[in-house]
Amino acid sequence: MLNSSFAMGLSAASLLVCISNLIFTYILGKNDKSHNRVYAVIVFILTINSLTGIFSAIAGSGELPIKDAILLQKISRTVYFITHTALCPMFYYYVSKVSFVSVRFSSIKTKIIAIPFVITELLAISNPFTNYVWYIDNKGEFHRLWGEMLIYLSALFYYILATVVLVTSWSVISKKRKSALLFCLILVALGVLTQLINKNLKVEVLAESIGFTGVLMSVENEDDRIDFGMDFYNRSALSLDISGALKHNRKLSVIIIHIRNYDIINRIAGNGESNVLSSILADYLRSLVKRYYIYVPNVDTFVLTVYSRDTEKVERMASGIADMFDKPWDYKDYNIHMDASIMVAEIPDNIKSVKDLFYMTDNPVSNDVDMRIIKGDSLNVFMRRQEVEDAVSHGFAENSFEVYYQPTFNIDGSLHGAEALIRMHDKKLGNLYPDEFIPIAESNGLVDDIDRFVLNEACRLIESGVTKENGIDNINVNLSVTECMKPGFIENINRIVEKYKIDKNNINFEITESIAASDYGTLGGIIHQLKDEGFLFSMDDYGTGYSNVSAVFSLNLDVVKIDKSLLWGAEKSELGMIILENTIRMIREMGKKILVEGVETSAQIELLKKLGVDYLQGFYFSKPIPKDDFIDFIREKHLAE
Ligand code: C2E
Ligand code: CA
Ligand code: CA
Repeated sequence: MLNSSFAMGLSAASLLVCISNLIFTYILGKNDKSHNRVYAVIVFILTINSLTGIFSAIAGSGELPIKDAILLQKISRTVYFITHTALCPMFYYYVSKVSFVSVRFSSIKTKIIAIPFVITELLAISNPFTNYVWYIDNKGEFHRLWGEMLIYLSALFYYILATVVLVTSWSVISKKRKSALLFCLILVALGVLTQLINKNLKVEVLAESIGFTGVLMSVENEDDRIDFGMDFYNRSALSLDISGALKHNRKLSVIIIHIRNYDIINRIAGNGESNVLSSILADYLRSLVKRYYIYVPNVDTFVLTVYSRDTEKVERMASGIADMFDKPWDYKDYNIHMDASIMVAEIPDNIKSVKDLFYMTDNPVSNDVDMRIIKGDSLNVFMRRQEVEDAVSHGFAENSFEVYYQPTFNIDGSLHGAEALIRMHDKKLGNLYPDEFIPIAESNGLVDDIDRFVLNEACRLIESGVTKENGIDNINVNLSVTECMKPGFIENINRIVEKYKIDKNNINFEITESIAASDYGTLGGIIHQLKDEGFLFSMDDYGTGYSNVSAVFSLNLDVVKIDKSLLWGAEKSELGMIILENTIRMIREMGKKILVEGVETSAQIELLKKLGVDYLQGFYFSKPIPKDDFIDFIREKHLAE
């Protein structure tokens, strides 16, 4: 009597919990993902189990005539066993779905795994005729048989499988989800054990229902995975889902759509909304793939995931997308032209880690890559870029950097100076050239460290006295203009150079004309202060930029280095010759010293002598060479002079 009201109370409690779970599942309104549906089935099973618990308790209360009590007991136990037997297999299926483990019903593995479930379900369904699982005697007493043991063992099997999936997917499930699933696993175990120890404590279903409330709050409720402004999945969801796919060897393709002119679109049509792009594109993107396959890792980038082995289908989809972006989009009263770059990559063929993927989403292809859709081998550019970036980041720890020196000459052929040029020897990638890694280092801020390293090395060389002994007055050191503009730059430079016992006018900084273009006021001020300290300055790569000539010369530099393209152009065409001649004449008339780079032949030297430049640099004399070779070179040269 007391037992039955206690059991009824527990079942009623779990019924309440289940009903709340069902209501909140409905309120969340997400039922399109397969784990949403599995969740609904689980809660449904638990609801039925709570109801059968109530009916069993009524049957056991002694208030009904014995015949009715036995019938009610039989019906409710039968329904209970049929449904409850499916619970652990469903839970395993649920954990697999959440962990991105592929469960294909056609696969042999899935079929084998399903065997215990099928056997125990058959036992539960056939029990009214076979009585292998349980029976009720004439007095209404409930008796368990070996079939129930099998059902428990099967449940244990799926419980262990679920635990294994959870543990092996540990790194690819968010903390919130892990905690909820673990909580659920523990509650299920506690409920079952309690009931096994004392069969009057019917807490199993209640414990399970509460466990799945936790799952509802943390797994089913995807607030932490959704970007609110955009209403698509966010960056961390993308990261976890792709890690999951990689971890469990799922093959899929990703289509990355990057809107290059996002800023302009936002300014024109944005009206202060953060999600202008998703307003324009949402319907279209959702017509391509289901909503939960669309992610926004950045405001201007969409990623679609396609879980299909049919690469042709994916490519057709991508070219359909490219076609859409050829035309303007209607949005409010605007006709918006979107400049989109589209990439298609396969996992795991092109993308081997989440880092690879984010490299693609965060370093969009530059405008000059003239390809409608970037895919396959063309994606290697990104992989290379990323490898180089990694190499640069580890470069200092691994001692990969080395400074080479390229001597420069007076027009009469005697030694003048040298330019310090960085080199990189990476363990994995081999020798790297600055044309490749400096732009990368500039984009991630590491160029500052490189420039400081080169400056230190150059100071050390000057301090050793070997350059002075051999007639070299100063060493040229390249500066990245972005660095010059940073606060504290002047102090940094002074601090480095003052560590060495050298004159500041032994250092000649080169800044590049093409980049210097932006803010002449600030740059001019910085150069002025450093020149007051005693440093010399050269304008590098003159003739490659489009800058304002009067602004360039207002910088008051000591030497102008004419870019090799001007020299080589002069040999190719008459127009090129006119440009070179007049550039040199103009700079001479302004009273600046002129160095010409890229001298490779004696004919070029003759030409430059005629045009009246001051210094020469180029492979004709020497390539950039390691420090020791450079010291040998200048010693020999000095002896000969
Ligand atoms: P840059 O400052 O214009 O350096 C001259 C480049 O021209 C060097 O390439 C040099 O090897 C090359 N060169 C010199 N003479 C000839 C020649 O006769 N023929 C040909 N074909 N090439 C010649 P490198 O060393 O590969 O450097 C490339 C660029 O990387 C440099 O161009 C500079 O912009 C940048 N860079 C190099 N070292 C540093 C550094 O320490 N800091 C910064 N910020 N940039 C650096
Ligand atoms: Ca230079
Ligand atoms: Ca140059």
